[in-house]
Amino acid sequence: MKVFVVNCGSSSIKFQLIDMETEIPLAKGQIERIGSEGSFLKLTPTGKYTVDLPMDVPNHDVGIRVILDALQNKDYGVIKTLEEIDAIGHRVVHGGERFTDSVLITQEVMDGIQACSAMAPLHNPPNLFGIKACMELMPTTPQVAVFDTAFHQTMPKIAYLYGLPYEMYVKYGLRRYGFHGTSHKYVAQVAAEMMQEHMSDLRIITCHLGNGASITAIKYGKSIDTSMGYTPLEGLIMGTRSGEIDPAIVPFLMEKENMTAPQIDEYLNKRSGILGISGLSSDFRDLESAANRGDERSQLAIDIFAYKVKKYIGGYVAAMGGVDAIVFTAGLGENSPFMRDKICNGLEYLGTRIDQERNKVRGKAQEISVKRATVKIFVIPTNEELVIARDTYNICKRIIKL
Ligand code: ADP
Repeated sequence: MKVFVVNCGSSSIKFQLIDMETEIPLAKGQIERIGSEGSFLKLTPTGKYTVDLPMDVPNHDVGIRVILDALQNKDYGVIKTLEEIDAIGHRVVHGGERFTDSVLITQEVMDGIQACSAMAPLHNPPNLFGIKACMELMPTTPQVAVFDTAFHQTMPKIAYLYGLPYEMYVKYGLRRYGFHGTSHKYVAQVAAEMMQEHMSDLRIITCHLGNGASITAIKYGKSIDTSMGYTPLEGLIMGTRSGEIDPAIVPFLMEKENMTAPQIDEYLNKRSGILGISGLSSDFRDLESAANRGDERSQLAIDIFAYKVKKYIGGYVAAMGGVDAIVFTAGLGENSPFMRDKICNGLEYLGTRIDQERNKVRGKAQEISVKRATVKIFVIPTNEELVIARDTYNICKRIIKL
């Protein structure tokens, strides 16, 4: 069975075609700059060279068409006809309280995703464009929606309610939802496998540290708290996002800097975080080399980030009454021995310490704590596409004649 995994962003489409017997992608790629000049498609058939195809992609509809054509191309394609695609899995960012798991897409589900768009105006509409485009081109192929928020729907009210009048929760759904759910779930599952235990017996803290960063407390298989909130702006300081700040700063800045609501939104999402503090870059690689050259603000940005992550780890140990494993994933978590060491330095009281030699690993699943540590530390590369493909396969295998 072959599953086409689609992740539509506002100006990009990332995709993979995965063979579910081997769980290996036959091809992967992306289109970028949709709707702007210079849009292009990148396609990498597994084991072959990447093909770069500049082309005019004005919208997601055309984007999906172009990708499916490329997958069937005589020279670099990997399938002969669209009939070979058995099911399609879509990443959908916001499922609100309605979607607690992945679902087969029907008109009712599409209406539900549309209804959640008010909470994710930049994300859910392009997700829906992708679903509609696939439906037009492959009307009989089953499609599944996999939500970033679904895994966190097990959070209890004490973790997800804000200190706002309760009516605001009832009226607008103003509460914490959390994101990166597929990633947190996947790396926790792999950690449990590596420990030869069941997730339902473990307390795991997963640190997804990329441009966007979030931490989750997974107690006995369920997300009980996570650092992102109503939007992905809450929680840790990130590449360009402020993370948690005193809410009173918002009206203060609007008044003093003469900002409108969309301007302050942009300011906190795009111009803050480690970019704002360092004044240099949102990329930790740039900050690490600048700090090595003695740049104080880059050093400060790194220190603040590591401090916040450590504080969340401590908070989640308290929330779960202990911890069995800590997992690092995503761009920074998978690739920065320096940052992992900095974050874990001082966690010895928990019963863990990083093994410097093992910590040299990059982009590969490995335990990095010292041998006799009672709390294990892992690096586990995330694979959100595989989670989407597995959920799609599990939902669709019942309805597809194989
Ligand atoms: P996104 O949230 O966009 O998916 P990624 O998970 O790809 O982000 O993470 C990207 C970030 O990871 C980069 O901005 C950079 O800060 C960090 N990163 C990637 N590789 C390294 C590395 N070798 N050393 C330090 N940081 C890295």
